[in-house]
Formats: sequence, C-alpha cells, structure tokens
Amino acid sequence: MEMGGPPAVAVKKISPKAIIYQRFGSQACYTVEEVQESIQNECPGLAIPQKGPCLYRCCLQLPEFSVVSETFKRKKDAEQSAAEMALLKLGINDATDDTTVQDPWDELVSRLSYLFSNEFLKSLHPLSGHFRAALQREGRLNGLVPISVLAVYDTKFSSLCKSINPKVESNPLLIMSLMLKAASRLSGSVSASEEQLSMKRENPYPPEIVQSVVDQQSSLLDSILIKVVRIPYSVEKTVEPLTLNVASNGYYLDIIAQELGLTDASKVLVSRTLIFYRTIGKASSEKRLYFCAPESCLGDSSSELLHSTESVPLNGSLNARASYLSGHLIYGHAILASIGYTWKSADLFYEDVSLHTYCSKIPSGVYKLSREAILAAELPGAFTTRTNWRGSFPRDLLCTFCRQHHLSEPVFSNVNSLESLPESPGLQKKLKVTESGNAETNGGGNAVGDGKSVAAKGTFKCEVKIFSKCQDLIIECSPKESFKKQNDAIQNASLKVLSWLNKYFKKLDMPLEELTSSGDVLDIQFHPQFFFKEFSLCMSVNGTVGDTVCPITIEGPDSGVSPSNGYLVCIIYTICLVTEGEYMKELIESNEEFEFEMGTGSVISSFEAVATQMSVGQSARFYMDLPPQELILASARDSSRVLSLLTSRGCSLECSTTLLRVTEPLEDRMEQALFSPPLSKQRVEYAVQQIKESCATSLVDFGCGSGSLLDSLLEYPTSLEKIVGVDISRKSLTRAAKIIHSKLSRSSDATVPSAGLKSAVLYYGSITDFDSRLYGFDIGTCLEVIEHMEEDQAHLFGDVVLTSFCPRILIVSTPNYEYNVILQRSALQSQEDDPDEKTQSQSCKFRNHDHKFEWTREQFSQWASNLAMRHNYSVEFSGVGGAVDREPGFASQIALFRREGECLRNVDVTHNYEIVWDWNST
Ligand code: SAH
Ligand code: MG
Repeated sequence: MEMGGPPAVAVKKISPKAIIYQRFGSQACYTVEEVQESIQNECPGLAIPQKGPCLYRCCLQLPEFSVVSETFKRKKDAEQSAAEMALLKLGINDATDDTTVQDPWDELVSRLSYLFSNEFLKSLHPLSGHFRAALQREGRLNGLVPISVLAVYDTKFSSLCKSINPKVESNPLLIMSLMLKAASRLSGSVSASEEQLSMKRENPYPPEIVQSVVDQQSSLLDSILIKVVRIPYSVEKTVEPLTLNVASNGYYLDIIAQELGLTDASKVLVSRTLIFYRTIGKASSEKRLYFCAPESCLGDSSSELLHSTESVPLNGSLNARASYLSGHLIYGHAILASIGYTWKSADLFYEDVSLHTYCSKIPSGVYKLSREAILAAELPGAFTTRTNWRGSFPRDLLCTFCRQHHLSEPVFSNVNSLESLPESPGLQKKLKVTESGNAETNGGGNAVGDGKSVAAKGTFKCEVKIFSKCQDLIIECSPKESFKKQNDAIQNASLKVLSWLNKYFKKLDMPLEELTSSGDVLDIQFHPQFFFKEFSLCMSVNGTVGDTVCPITIEGPDSGVSPSNGYLVCIIYTICLVTEGEYMKELIESNEEFEFEMGTGSVISSFEAVATQMSVGQSARFYMDLPPQELILASARDSSRVLSLLTSRGCSLECSTTLLRVTEPLEDRMEQALFSPPLSKQRVEYAVQQIKESCATSLVDFGCGSGSLLDSLLEYPTSLEKIVGVDISRKSLTRAAKIIHSKLSRSSDATVPSAGLKSAVLYYGSITDFDSRLYGFDIGTCLEVIEHMEEDQAHLFGDVVLTSFCPRILIVSTPNYEYNVILQRSALQSQEDDPDEKTQSQSCKFRNHDHKFEWTREQFSQWASNLAMRHNYSVEFSGVGGAVDREPGFASQIALFRREGECLRNVDVTHNYEIVWDWNST
C-alpha cells in the first residue's frame, strides 16, 4: 500500500495476502466495498451518497474474526491492507517466517535512506510534506525532520520496528530509539541528533528538486487559522478551544510546539492512533494528539532512551483525558488537532476540531453526535422499532465504539428459531443462519401462537461478542428476546451492550458486583480481567444535563393532544446559556425538528418530563442545572464566548421548546385506521352496554391509564354514582386527573349526561394488590391492561380481583394475537410507499412494544375459564372489531365474568393505594 516504495532495495517479499492464503486458504474471504471519499461509515451497507472520487475498503473475514481496512484508491491495496491488519491481529510477523526476506534491521535502514532520497521529497507520501516543510525551517532547524513524525506517518517504518521489537506498540519512544540506531548505520548521508530528536540529510537536495517541490505547492494565503483543542493535564482545568496561526511557509508542528510551551517541533510527540469520531457522514482521517516528549528523553540521558525497553519514567503529570482519547499514556499538556499531509496534494490538509471529539468515546456521546444534539439527546434505553429510532443505529454505534477503543469488530451470531416461513419463500433465502436453530420457542413461550392461523413463525435471536485486538473475549450478550426480523435482533443485542458500557463509563468506580448485576439485567456476561485491561485508561468525561431547577411555564391553549409512552414526539427547542438576571444570553444548541420516542429515555429527563405535561401547539420554558463545562463547549457554536460567560457566576441553561406534533404508537394507528368507530370507542360502548343492563352504580377501572374509559363514560347517561380508576403510572394518572377534572367542572348543570355522578377518585397502586376501599363494586373493568403485565402477574391479578375485590361483574379485554396478521397486512397495504412503515409493522412482534404477551383465543379462554371456575364466577366471551364467527375472531377479545353467589366476606381495612385525585359533587 505504500506508493513508490524504495526501488533500490526491492526485495522479493511475500505479500500479507499470500501469507493469509497460506494459513487459511479459501477460508479467508475478502469483500471489497466502494466508499465515497470523506465518508467512512463504520459498517458496510450504510454508505451515504456524497460526491467525491471513489475509494475502496476491504473487509477480510477469517474463521475467528474479521478486519476492515482503511480506504484506498486501489482495490488491491485495500485487500493487502486488510490482510496486513489480520496478520497483526494474529500476531504473525510477516517477516520472520520467511528466510528469503531481509533482516528487518537492513530493511529499516534502507527505508530510512529512501525517505531522505530526492524521489521521496517529490512524492505525495503524507510524510514527505514534513520533509518539504523542514526545508523551510529557519536557522539551525533548517532541514531537520523530527523523528516522531517518521514513526507516525510511515506505516512501513512502524511495522518494521514492530517486527524488531513488539513493545513499540505500547511505548512510542522505543520506536524512536530504534530509528536513531538505524540512522547511525547511515552516517555520511543522514545525520541524527538524539538530543534534538531529529534527523537531517547531510548533503543538501539539488536546487532544481527543491525548486520543483516549491512549485508543486499552491501559493496559499499568508497564513491559515486552524481550530484545535487544548487538553491541559490537570483535570481541574477545562479543555479549551484554541486557534493556531500557521504561516503558509511555516512548519505547523513548530507552531504546535510553541503552544505546548516547547522550543520546536522535535520535542513534540504525535499520537500514533487516529482519534476519530463520526458525525453524520463525516470522518476526519487526520485527527491526532500532540504532546510533549517526556523530559527524560529530551535531556542528556541518551543511553536511557536507546536502551530502555520498559515504559518511560512517569513525571507525575499524566494527562488522563488525553490518554483516554488516544488509548495510550500521555503526559503533560496535549493538543488535539486535525492537520497533516495527505496522499492527495502537497498542500497542508487541515480541519477544524471542536470539542465534539471529546464526547465521542462513550456510547451516549457517539449517539448524541449522531443526533446533533449533544445536550438534549441521550442513548435510548430500548430499541422498540426501526421507525421510532432516531440517530445512528445501535449496531453502528457499537462498531464505532469498538473502533474507537481499538477492539475487534463486534461478532454477531444469529439464531433462527422455529421453522421457516412457509408463506414467503423469498424471505427464507435471505435468512442467514450462522448457528443452527435448535427449534427455540419464543422468549416466554407465550407469544407465538399454536400456529395454524399465524403466518409468520420465524423469529430471531442474536448474540453479540466483543473481542480485544488479541482476540480475548471481553463481553458477551445473549438476549432472551426473539424478533421477527433478524436486524431487530441485532439492534437489540447491540443496544444492550451499549447501555451496559454506558453505565460503566458514567460511573467508572462502580464496584464489580454492581457491574455484574447490571450486566445480568441486560443478559450480559463479561470477563473482568480482560475488560479492565482494555478500559483501564478510560475516564468519565461526560456528564448529563441536570434536572429543571424551577417550575416549568407552559404557554398556549391546551389542544388535548398529548403524548405518552410509545408516542413519537416532535419538538423544536433552543438551549441558551444565560447569566444571572439574563444580562447575557448565548445560544448553545437548537433543533428545528427534533423527534424522539417517549418512554425510552432518548432525551434528557427534563425534556421528557416537560413533554408529558404539554399538548400539541404549546410552548414551554424552563431552566436546567449546568452540565460539565466540556459538554457545553462541545455543543456551543462560539466556544470562546461561552467560555467567557461561564466564568461569570450564576449561569444556567435556559430551554424553550414547542411541541410540534405527536405520532401515536402503531397499535393505536392501526386500530383507528381499520375500525370505525375505533376499537377504543367500541370497548367503551361495550362497557356502557353492560353498565346499563346491570344498573351499576359503582365502577372501578383497573389500569385506567390516562382515563380514556372514565372520561368517555361521562359522555353517556348512566346510573353510575361512583367511578374509580387505579394505575401504576403517575404520569398517566396526572393526565387522567386533568382531563376528568376539566370535564366535571364544566358539568355542574343537570343537563349533562354525568349529572348523577357523586364521586370520582383516582388511586395510585398496583392492581395485583388489594385495597378494601374498592371492595364489592358493581362493575370492574380492565381494558387492554393484562398484556402489559408479566404473565404470572396477569394470573395473580385474576385471583386477587375475584377473591378480594369481588366485583359483581368484571370485564377484561386484551388483544387477540391471531388477529395481528390482519392488522399488519392492512398496515402494509396502506403504507405501500413507505418502506420504513413496512419494516415497523413486520418488526413489532406484538401490536405494541410494551406488551409482555398477546394471547390467542385459546390461551385467553383457558385463563378466563380456569379463573371463573376457581372463584365461583361464570364467564362469557365476546369482543370488538371483527366478528366471532369469522376467522380469526375479534381484534380485541373480551371476557365478561359474573359473580354467581353473594359476596359475604369480612373485609379488613387495607389501604394499599394512594389517592392522587379526589372529586365529589358536594
Ligand atoms: N385501560 C386503559 C389503559 C391501557 S394501557 C385504556 O384502555 O386506555 C395499560 C395500562 O395498564 C397502563 O396505564 C399501565 O400503567 C397500567 N398497568 C400495567 N400494570 C399495572 C399494574 N400492575 N397495576 C396497575 N396498572 C397497571
Ligand atoms: Mg395494550
């Protein structure tokens, strides 16, 4: 992959590809992929179209792992590079095995001599720019090339050094001492100054060569301004933006040296690893850390440098943040910059670097960047559906994470459970089964119906493993859930790993026990030894935005359309930094259209809390605690202004937001599109019918949610005098209280239907707990609730309600799983043009991701019949949506229980519920 290698010393050498072939034969699988320049998507298949010459990247798949090369102009180079990476991983030294290959020491020397040749000076090797710049340096520095750049910008060099001494990987100074040694064998043509850590060609370049390279360079402006980031070693000091002023004929490394307080470029070390991050479709290829060479090797301790094989002596100024970013130890101040020479032009390439990079190493940071919402976004805690996900997908985030932490690419293995899909042979071909499906049944064993009427049977599970570069297994995640789509299984597993890592990064001192138990929850196992080895340099750099610090003011009329969990919410927001008394205000972050799914934790908590209180069209304003300075600076546009504001006391974040629109969860959308009146309305009408027939005066709605049933009942003239709702969601109860309250306060005159009502109460509590205040009601309703509980809880509720609450009539409704085929088919038809919608309806196993199960008619009837029998109730079945005599039955199935005998139990006073709202007519 080197362009224009040293012709004089061309020794026949076996290529990395050939070595791979010798070892693996046809088991080695190369896939070359086209990439547009300046885009480096972490995972294949996601290329974002953009202009630019085409480059190639190669993925090499070996039995144990895979590697992905950087991008190259030629396919061939990409393949060789991938092979080389694989060899590195395998620890196979491409030089040692083969006797026809030169001694690496000789190669190192000849490489060095080539670098100081005329040809090299004229070439477009990224390193040759440093040689040309060196010729422009003044005085005694003229022509001196810092050794550190040789080590970093010539991959051949570093791999040769590695083959001589593998320890160079962890000790950048070692590579420099190897070079000095190599240079000593070139005395006469190249002189090395150990003290100055530089090398120089002894005889000047011919003038015409120098002239031609000067001509090569385009005559730029006098100077260029480059934004970089300074990272002080003291964690107390903030990471700050900084502008470098590089004269067009100057050497940028000298300028960096000055900023680091050093005399010249030779004292600057350059990180060998690229510090990269990705925002959407953009990756910098030249982002590196620049820092000061440890004192021990700048002084006269020449022998120490040359002979030390252990790590450098610590001088007490470890730069934890820079070390964390680079993955190796860095001492003293550091500068993060994206500057360098490229294969493309003789001109200096540079990009502004913002503090963005700074939050790009932890999963939530990468996610925030992908959403362009550093302050507002958070890594969601759940992957519900593809359509509701915003920002980079979990799998891509995980790939990025692994790369940034110098780990191997994550390994996904898919398990296909149950047999194939008889109805769609096309799909079958696409399924990739890497581990034989051992006829897994679905998670709780309750979701996939008995079969005949259910079309889609194939479900997927996915496991993900994270390996270190040395192939040590670090993390393993085997989720219990299964999915209809393979991709969803992959995303779900990836997110679990990310969530767990994120927990760790936010609390690095977490005790092992806590880390293990938080892994258990996410089906994750990890190997502490390898885990801590890989992440020993990590540090918490990210905080989150605090909670609101004052009451929220909401403006505008209540449109009644409010989001709750599962809804997709779209807001516009601005976050400003304001000083006390609002004398100064600086915009930090804003978004014109920011969508998020409620209830998944995909935004900071105050945003979600505010959204639940708003209805569409309303605006809100509130203040939040300041997050860590780095986070503000990372988001800010004008960071120097922000910095000056931050120094004044009493700053806070002011947030203004407007709720633009909400989209209901798929379940509601489907039910509304397909049924007229909507299913929810039909359920209410069914309940009203029962109330009328039984002349009920008291009703309790178990799992009342936002009070849709209680609210609708008020529209009908009934015999009801007392209505009660119970739920375990405070948010929903708050909304229910608001809605019912406003309706009841409007209805003081006797003409309204609900005029007979004497009392209404909302309780907070679980319907699996008994509360004697709800004993012996005429009617209990429990509509679309049990499927939100775990199955054993649903059984428990059945027992508690019929033995303890003893309502005269109990109405329980729940989705009919067999009907989903129709709902999903219709969703497909109505959204033919929208491929995302298609995916969503297919990806959601149940109608709503919050459902823990959905029963077939058979399952529901068994539950209800058993229950009725045990507690001396009768039960009859019915439903709404569809018809009883047409397959596959009702969309929503209903069981109506009637108490057979009198309920003469002695009831002890038990108050398990908390009153959250209470109304009575007097
Ligand atoms: N019955 C309402 C809401 C259905 S959504 C309607 O038809 O519109 C399901 C509701 O059940 C949610 O509000 C949820 O908070 C509630 N729920 C789930 N488990 C519960 C429990 N153990 N106790 C009380 N409510 C519960
Ligand atoms: Mg439901």
